[in-house]
Amino acid sequence: MPRLPADPDLLVIGAGAAGIAAARTALEAGHRVVVLEARGRVGGRAVTDTARLGLPYDLGATWLHQAATNPLVPLAQALGVTLHDSDALRRERSQVGARALTAEEDAAYAAAWTAAEARIEAAATDGGPDRSLAEGMGATGPWAPAIEGWQGDIISAAPAGRVSLHDFHANALEGGNRLPEGGFGALVARLAEGLPVVLDAPVTRLAWGGRQAVAEGPFGTLRARAVVVTIPASLLAAEAIRFDPPLPAAVLQAAHDLPLGQVVKAGFRVAGGERFGLPPFSSVDRLVAPGEPLVAMSLFPFGRPVISCHVGGDAAAALEAEGDAAVAAFMRAEIATRFGADALRCLVPGPIVSEWGRDPWSRGVYSYARIGRAAARAILAEPLADGRLCLAGEATDQGMAGTVGGAWRSGVGAGRRAMAALAG
Ligand SMILES: Cc1cc2nc3c(=O)[nH]c(=O)nc-3n(C[C@H](O)[C@H](O)[C@H](O)COP(=O)(O)OP(=O)(O)OC[C@H]3O[C@@H](n4cnc5c(N)ncnc54)[C@H](O)[C@@H]3O)c2cc1C
Repeated sequence: MPRLPADPDLLVIGAGAAGIAAARTALEAGHRVVVLEARGRVGGRAVTDTARLGLPYDLGATWLHQAATNPLVPLAQALGVTLHDSDALRRERSQVGARALTAEEDAAYAAAWTAAEARIEAAATDGGPDRSLAEGMGATGPWAPAIEGWQGDIISAAPAGRVSLHDFHANALEGGNRLPEGGFGALVARLAEGLPVVLDAPVTRLAWGGRQAVAEGPFGTLRARAVVVTIPASLLAAEAIRFDPPLPAAVLQAAHDLPLGQVVKAGFRVAGGERFGLPPFSSVDRLVAPGEPLVAMSLFPFGRPVISCHVGGDAAAALEAEGDAAVAAFMRAEIATRFGADALRCLVPGPIVSEWGRDPWSRGVYSYARIGRAAARAILAEPLADGRLCLAGEATDQGMAGTVGGAWRSGVGAGRRAMAALAG
């Protein structure tokens, strides 16, 4: 059983990006802080594994998006972590089956992307009611399933037909993507170094009606004057922590309106020097038929011998439910489709496979808003009990929701609001 420190001023629940940011903010202001974390590690949905493939592999967050405003960029630089400009290094290639596109096909795909993005912009800003991302995008033609697959299943982690256009547009990222050399999870873990985190300490009940909040779990009981709760919206909706009194109905509804989508990732180590004629930092996609899942594939980042495949939305949920072997077989078949059956001989057995949907501490990957519910993020971020209870996490951010940067920003904001309550 973990040893509990003395009761703090501020209790933070969850040691993902939002919780780490909230704790650092309050500690820097001189408050006594404790972070209770359910898992046996920090970082939440940002975790780098170096053991399985013998090189850093991010099972969750990988890119620092929107570098110009991402709060993690200066923090990484201050730690001396090398950030690579992914946009400059990335080499994109699209295929039909195993062959590269002709110049005409390439131009048609690029034109279809430009048109879909323009329609999203127009539809999201026309003053009309919210609708689905698929409707707003109105993609047609042979490339429509690939573009919907990217914007929906991969970027939103859910089918474009279920995603709010207004929320998608409000959180569309402006580019400037950075890859931290040792992995994003490793960077987030470094940002938690020295923080008063109690691991293996899941909170099961939070009483927040009195002057002091009381958190309970297998670790015992901890009291604090203010609390920042950073668990994913999926767990708020499932009432995985019993709030006493219950969260206001509007807040609970907002959590239901921000479900976490699904993505499953598989990383393969490539033996020998085989690179399929591709340069480092390659990204390969292909024409898919309607209903066929799109697999995003990143190959040889930093020149490392690794292929990372990920699929999102309903296909991800179905594959993950079938288990790791099914995920690996599906991704291997995709690699064979793109590079020929011989390519499979180069793959070292035993890929690394993520399991975010099965994981009881996430139950999904990142939040999207249901159609007509784009306001849910603001509702979730609203302080409760005069700021003595604040919810934070990627789902509560507006502008960078779904990302580590958004989670971090929300944690800083919630930490400040809780400190204001402590001062009052
Ligand atoms: C496959 C995948 C790819 C992604 N790619 C990117 C990317 O490239 N770039 C990017 O910016 N973002 C990406 N994301 C999203 C990003 O990882 C998340 O938005 C971000 O990490 C969320 O941080 P958070 O603090 O809000 O939540 P979390 O990281 O989920 O932290 C919440 C913490 O609360 C803990 N917890 C839960 N319940 C309890 C409880 N009862 N008691 C105590 N602790 C509890 C959890 O264990 C967890 O540590 C990706 C995510 C996934 C899964």
